[in-house]
Amino acid sequence: MRHRIAVVGGGPAGLTFARVLYRHDHPVTVLERDPAPDARPPGGTLDLHEKLGQLALGKAGLLAEFQALSRPEGQAMRILDTDGTVLRDWQPRPDDGANPEIDRGQLRDLLLGPLDVQWGRGVTEVVPGTRDGVLVRFADGRQETFDLVVGADGAWSRVRPAVSSATPHYTGVTSVETSLDDVDTRHPDLARLIGDGSMAVYGVNRALVAQRNSGGHVKVYAQFRAPLDWHTNLDRHLDLDDVEAVRSSLLALFDGWAAPVLDLLRHGTAFVHRPLYVLPVSHTWAHVPGVTLLGDAAHLMPPLGVGANLAMLEGAELAESVAAAPGPGDLDEAVRAFEEQMWARAGRWAKITAAGLERLVSPDPTEALALFDEVQPS
Ligand SMILES: Cc1cc2nc3c(=O)[nH]c(=O)nc-3n(C[C@H](O)[C@H](O)[C@H](O)COP(=O)(O)OP(=O)(O)OC[C@H]3O[C@@H](n4cnc5c(N)ncnc54)[C@H](O)[C@@H]3O)c2cc1C
Repeated sequence: MRHRIAVVGGGPAGLTFARVLYRHDHPVTVLERDPAPDARPPGGTLDLHEKLGQLALGKAGLLAEFQALSRPEGQAMRILDTDGTVLRDWQPRPDDGANPEIDRGQLRDLLLGPLDVQWGRGVTEVVPGTRDGVLVRFADGRQETFDLVVGADGAWSRVRPAVSSATPHYTGVTSVETSLDDVDTRHPDLARLIGDGSMAVYGVNRALVAQRNSGGHVKVYAQFRAPLDWHTNLDRHLDLDDVEAVRSSLLALFDGWAAPVLDLLRHGTAFVHRPLYVLPVSHTWAHVPGVTLLGDAAHLMPPLGVGANLAMLEGAELAESVAAAPGPGDLDEAVRAFEEQMWARAGRWAKITAAGLERLVSPDPTEALALFDEVQPS
């Protein structure tokens, strides 16, 4: 039996789900709000863990292609003191395949492959339990029904209200993101400072992280504890679209840090304001037949290197269960069992990442170093 299945969202969760179903020859409708794959910048690099994201890619039959694209050297991690002293300089072995990095755009294209995504189809509402199944309403006024609707539509999911009243709340940490292009030729000193992977500097309630992507592109994240409306509480209201004003504010916030570290902000090309939101730790819901959630829609957590990994593994696991479910009753049982498994694993990671954020952007910067020493293999 072929269930009518829709997945809302073409991020890591939705695309992995669809790609594994495709491998099992099961039809799936992929509904994505963006009008095209490259409608907005894809975001920074992702490290895919052997037992999470890479496992999912194996289930999609894409592991070899991932290995050809990914950057094992990108696992390198350097930690500096705010005065520029190198405190840790961890390098992976050449054959270390534990957590190689891949650009999000490359991962998206790898997962997209032969999939027939419906672009520009923003979902506004999902209504379970109608006579013909689960009703999906679209921003353009159209509607369609399915046997199963999977919400893989990220932090501000429009599918989530069909199963849960939970909404994301602010962590107290804000991230302002900037980037540098062609770093090896334009900023060779910064290229050396960052190395092959990531570089992080931890101060009192502040962190500055630079991550190398492919092609000499570097993403820089300035993170700090602040009220959500910090930019309206300065001497003068800060216009977040005014690049030079944001740069000056950040340089003032990180005042006293070593000049080469601050050069990451001085040379940044544009700034994107991203307050960090999370869903409640161990978010679950009473099972609703015909609707479920994956990835950030189900368990948004601080960005500590695991969200996309979980999203992908969940997508792959749910797809395998759905493809193996012959009748409508089996489909619902498969989804129930999947949810139990997802909640248990995501709950553990939500606790770990919540505690991690407390220590990485902390009044005591030695906590960040201690955390690094606990998790980094020697
Ligand atoms: C700075 C930063 C760095 C990170 N680094 C890492 C890392 O190294 N490793 C890691 O594992 N995780 C990392 N994460 C977390 C990771 O990005 C997320 O957990 C992951 O993207 C979640 O995938 P998703 O598919 O659930 O949601 P998303 O990636 O948010 O994708 C959701 C998709 O749904 C679409 N959509 C939204 N609303 C609708 C709608 N109404 N209708 C139709 N489509 C819709 C969106 O356009 C989008 O394509 C990081 C996060 C941040 C912010």
